[in-house]
Amino acid sequence: MEADYDVIILGAGAAGLSACVYTSRAMMKTLVLESLGSGGQLLITDEIENYPGFPEGVKGPLLAQDMETQALRFGGELEYAEVEALDDIDKPVKIVRTDDKVYTAKSIIIATGGAHNKLGAPGEDELAGRGVSYCAVCDGNFFRGQDVVVVGGGDSALDEGIYLSAIVKSVTFIHRRDELRATKLLQERAFAIDNIKFLWSHVVENLVGNELLEAVKVKNLKTEEVYEYPTAAAFIYVGFHPNSEYLQGVLEMDPLGHIATDLHMRTKVPGVYACGDIRTESTRQLGVAVGDGITAALSAYHDLL
Ligand SMILES: Cc1cc2nc3c(=O)[nH]c(=O)nc-3n(C[C@H](O)[C@H](O)[C@H](O)COP(=O)(O)OP(=O)(O)OC[C@H]3O[C@@H](n4cnc5c(N)ncnc54)[C@H](O)[C@@H]3O)c2cc1C
Repeated sequence: MEADYDVIILGAGAAGLSACVYTSRAMMKTLVLESLGSGGQLLITDEIENYPGFPEGVKGPLLAQDMETQALRFGGELEYAEVEALDDIDKPVKIVRTDDKVYTAKSIIIATGGAHNKLGAPGEDELAGRGVSYCAVCDGNFFRGQDVVVVGGGDSALDEGIYLSAIVKSVTFIHRRDELRATKLLQERAFAIDNIKFLWSHVVENLVGNELLEAVKVKNLKTEEVYEYPTAAAFIYVGFHPNSEYLQGVLEMDPLGHIATDLHMRTKVPGVYACGDIRTESTRQLGVAVGDGITAALSAYHDLL
């Protein structure tokens, strides 16, 4: 059976789009399948200051748009569809299934990245989009001039909280420990901002509200005190999981769902590559995702020669 494509790239984040530049420039017939929006996590990142080539920093959505334009310049195709399953991945012609279509390819580059974890607290799902958010850059503007909370203490939480602090009246970080996990630079920035406060050693037990979020019920882990903390919005940043559910039983993964590769982004299955945040031991940085995507593309190219 003839394959439809030389390579199908799963996911149009930084890794997938970078791979597409290289495969399509190498004249490989390339399809990128994307379930949401080109750029992946870039779409929810306000300012990127550590990606080389942008001495003044760059806005994530702008970079995403440019990456997509560049990726499609050389003949690669992009379709919006969620990949639901892979079949025959150990065969020369591999099958990719979306909800309504079946595609075939000689190689597959997995670049489906990851997503933020939910808190799992009562009220979270009911109030999602009505005060509960996982994306400050998308939703921060709705809460201009109001008091909001950010749940979490890692890099993403601080990055988004600092962004929010310029828009809203106050940002209160709710963090289960009495120190942050975020990089020192981000911590110093957050500590220097007047309208950022911290509720240390607190957890969110409930998200409270009817039509809209009105408060978070918090527990002080040191005193056991439980009380309602009024807020217009809760931005939740409590971890991250790879988007690899559709690969269960198809490809070997670590316990958290990341895919192991060698240095050339090859998985254990010939013709199948993984790159970016979905990869085991990825440092989850943009430059790394770009480099991974390029490496995966070059490996796919060389393996088909
Ligand atoms: C708030 C925030 C701030 C950040 N700041 C920085 C920073 O300053 N510097 C830095 O270097 N890095 C930063 N990062 C990390 C960086 O953005 C990521 O490491 C990088 O974008 C990961 O790219 P990726 O292509 O591997 O994955 P993703 O960006 O997650 O892209 C994966 C794509 O695959 C799609 N997808 C998922 N499942 C499917 C499916 N089944 N079918 C089809 N498509 C699917 C998704 O919709 C997504 O578009 C930040 C991340 C966040 C969230």
